[in-house]
Amino acid sequence: MSWVTLDGVRVSYGSQMALDGINLAIPQGEIVAILGPSGCGKTTLLRSIAGLLPVSEGQISLGGRIVSSTGATVAPERRGIGWVPQDSSLFPHLSVSENIGFGIPRGHDRAERIRQLASMVGLLEHLDRAPSQLSGGQAQRVSLARALAIRPAVLLLDEPFAALDPMLRSALRTEVAELLRSQSSTAILVTHDQEEALSLADHIAVMMGGRILQWGTPVEVYERPTTSWVARFVGSTVELPGLWQGGRVSCALGMIEAVLMDEEVAEGDTVRIVVRPEWIAIGAGEIEAVVRSVSYSGHDGTAALQLLDGTRVRARLAATELPSVGDCVRLSVRRSALVYR
Ligand code: ATP
Repeated sequence: MSWVTLDGVRVSYGSQMALDGINLAIPQGEIVAILGPSGCGKTTLLRSIAGLLPVSEGQISLGGRIVSSTGATVAPERRGIGWVPQDSSLFPHLSVSENIGFGIPRGHDRAERIRQLASMVGLLEHLDRAPSQLSGGQAQRVSLARALAIRPAVLLLDEPFAALDPMLRSALRTEVAELLRSQSSTAILVTHDQEEALSLADHIAVMMGGRILQWGTPVEVYERPTTSWVARFVGSTVELPGLWQGGRVSCALGMIEAVLMDEEVAEGDTVRIVVRPEWIAIGAGEIEAVVRSVSYSGHDGTAALQLLDGTRVRARLAATELPSVGDCVRLSVRRSALVYR
């Protein structure tokens, strides 16, 4: 059953439409990433679910209860929602322990619950510290523990890792995902970081211009993007013109297997084909190319290749497989190319 449901939700700021007919059905216990470029409406979506913005059309339900509609809005504090903002926003005059316990009612098990939460986020040693004595990652963990303290029905995370350095960001997001899964929390994570969405979420909603362009698992969104824009937004692409020949496409990379992503394409049509750089293999293959440059990034790297007809493509390879500049190589495409109009 869907735990968070949005039906035809429209939200506007005056004459500016920020959400334009959003439909979402999020199952209980799932982590969902809302992924999209700046200004596409991600924060507006989160704020609407939290009850901080009224809907101008449609409705939002949490756990089967309508919380937002054009007729009525349930107050934010009565929605059972936990909120983790971008910049942790801890109360500066309260200790770690008091911050975590802020929403927990006074009672005999309150101290125990605070210790449990602090232990869960690995901060048992720091309970008496002030927020000013914490690193960015530690502060963000306190913020997470504080949000989980009220046992929220839904946890909303608004770019919670954006302010952290890349090493810490990647370590903390793995920890947070494990924690959320161990608690079977339903969580909605807003991000404009593709890698974060792909690595953390069970489902991703790709947004643009106040609409959801695609809803799918990370694999679906990355390997079967419904539009070339989504393909480009979610990862690197190599894009070439081609001729659709029913199950195959003829292009600068030869006659290759292809999947039609746009139903309006007919046999013989000129199309745009998209492949991921890691789908291009160097070694055996019919197509000859010269390596023009190589960019090394540690675990893997990218080779810029020029085909005999002058077309340029990029291949992503394991660092150990990278060719050298000037090498003549042969190429093949190891996955079906995606075909768009
Ligand atoms: P970012 O990634 O930059 O935070 P976002 O995807 O979260 O962006 P929103 O903040 O939801 O986008 O904004 C969606 C649209 O609504 C944008 O066009 C923005 O300019 C507009 N908008 C947001 N807040 C307001 C406001 N208070 N008044 C008027 N327009 C607003």
